[in-house]
Amino acid sequence: MEDGKVGIVACSGASNTGAYSDLVARKLMQRGKSKMLCLARFAIDEKFTEQSKQEYSRFVVLDGCPINCAEEILKDKGITTFKHINTTDFGIVKGKTPVTVDKVDEIIDYIETVELNNLIYNEK
Ligand code: SF4
Repeated sequence: MEDGKVGIVACSGASNTGAYSDLVARKLMQRGKSKMLCLARFAIDEKFTEQSKQEYSRFVVLDGCPINCAEEILKDKGITTFKHINTTDFGIVKGKTPVTVDKVDEIIDYIETVELNNLIYNEK
């Protein structure tokens, strides 16, 4: 298990809200407290999924709309303990709100101050 590291999985969808999930995940990883893991790989690579379960006891899952693709894929692969965040909970409207650095940083600040420092995971 990676000491203190959190696995971040983003839906990385085509929409503005999916772009937010992707950008937030990448910037969180750059800050060094977490590692972004490929959502698509969870869908097709059982070995990767099993290794990730061993390496990361904690996951943050970022989705860009209520379809919750990332959450659903992880649940389907047997990962059920994670913190789920939807970018639409931050006043972002799918298909409308421009992607801005300020809004990305607002979501990151929330995750770092509320979630990563006080991790309470929902059993889904
Ligand atoms: S959760 Fe929504 S925004 Fe993200 S990939 Fe799925 S449909 Fe697209």
